[in-house]
Amino acid sequence: MRKNRLRRPPRPFNGMRYLRFLLLIAVIAGFYGYLRDLKAPGIEVSPAQGMLSAQRPLTIKLSDSGSGLKSLRIIARQDGSETVLMEKEFSGEKSSEIQLDLAKTGLIDGSVEFAFEVRDHSLFPFGNGNRAQQSLTLILDRQPPQIELLSDTTPIWQGGAATIVYKVSEETSRSGVQADGLFFAGYRQSNGKYLCVVPFPVAVNPAAYAPKLVAVDLAGNETRISSGLRLLSRKFPQARINVSDAFIASKTEEFQGLVPGGSGIDLFLKVNRDIRAENRKTLLELAAKSSATPLWSAPMLRMPRAMTTGAYAEARDYYYNGQVVDHQTHLGTDLASVAQAPILAANPGKVLFAGYFGLYGGCVILDHGLGVQTLYGHMSSISAQVGQSVSRGEEIGRSGNTGMSGGDHLHFEVLVGGVPVRPEDWMEEKWMATYILDPMQK
Ligand SMILES: [Zn+2]
Repeated sequence: MRKNRLRRPPRPFNGMRYLRFLLLIAVIAGFYGYLRDLKAPGIEVSPAQGMLSAQRPLTIKLSDSGSGLKSLRIIARQDGSETVLMEKEFSGEKSSEIQLDLAKTGLIDGSVEFAFEVRDHSLFPFGNGNRAQQSLTLILDRQPPQIELLSDTTPIWQGGAATIVYKVSEETSRSGVQADGLFFAGYRQSNGKYLCVVPFPVAVNPAAYAPKLVAVDLAGNETRISSGLRLLSRKFPQARINVSDAFIASKTEEFQGLVPGGSGIDLFLKVNRDIRAENRKTLLELAAKSSATPLWSAPMLRMPRAMTTGAYAEARDYYYNGQVVDHQTHLGTDLASVAQAPILAANPGKVLFAGYFGLYGGCVILDHGLGVQTLYGHMSSISAQVGQSVSRGEEIGRSGNTGMSGGDHLHFEVLVGGVPVRPEDWMEEKWMATYILDPMQK
């Protein structure tokens, strides 16, 4: 006889069981996450080559987007011995950046082979996690370069300049003289010595201007010593310039090319202030394009048969209708002879600039090497071409009245590292020998 099949009553809803089910799903999903992470963690070491120092520390960037980071091991090999520099555990971070303090590692300066091993939290393979390895050889250099100053202690007057000569014990990434935010590059010569022509600018506070000789090696280690320059302040002349409406009217069309739409005294002031400042900035930038060797060996040639009509470093007050409207320092020497007189290269050099240059109007800039350059302003015509080599006394154009000029003359500047210095010094044979040329033979 067949028994009647009993029908089970429907099971009541079991909350506990449901929760367990959800938990199981979560655990499986979690495991799947670990299992699915078959990708090794990322490791990025910098610097990837070259030098290591306090300025160029060893930085390790780790990442693992899957199961997260688990551990990092760093080994250093030097002269046949092996040192564990770091063993670090992580708790599943997706990324980490570590900077290794090499001061406490016991490593000595020289070649070091570094080996990096990083693992993630993946259960693959066999619960060990994915692994990434990398090794690289870097040069540890924590010794700052040694500088030997070969030139004598030299007193220089404000507006003057001097050559300093030095040697550096190792290859440099940068060396020269640093003073009050300005930097004057030293140029390495074929005999291994460095030459650096240093100006003492007019436009600085002599008390704040403290030139230091600086050398930075390829690892970034820096040494600073005294430059041996003794600074002496000097008084400069003052002048009063009257700006007339007739002068402004005569220049309006030309200046509107520099400041479109300007007129009257505002136009004059914009050119005298803003364009002047822009021009000075450009001159500092042009200094970097100087030749690494001196192209000259004689004093600067003065414009022949010319009268000095404006002095270097003259502090000029500009008056308009009886009121002071501006104050600027005149940073060149004005020389006047006949109209459209030949303008001659003051020394051998290369034409760095030839064209219209703001305040200076028609202008030629010659490079003589070691950061020394000459500027010829207000020219009516230019015959020199950029890139051309010129000899001492070669004609580069004709004098004129272009730019901020009230009559045919030459505005002549001598620049050192983009800073205008006193042109008369450079025209004197004895000064040129004492301060600039003789020290080069040290
Ligand atoms: Zn001038």
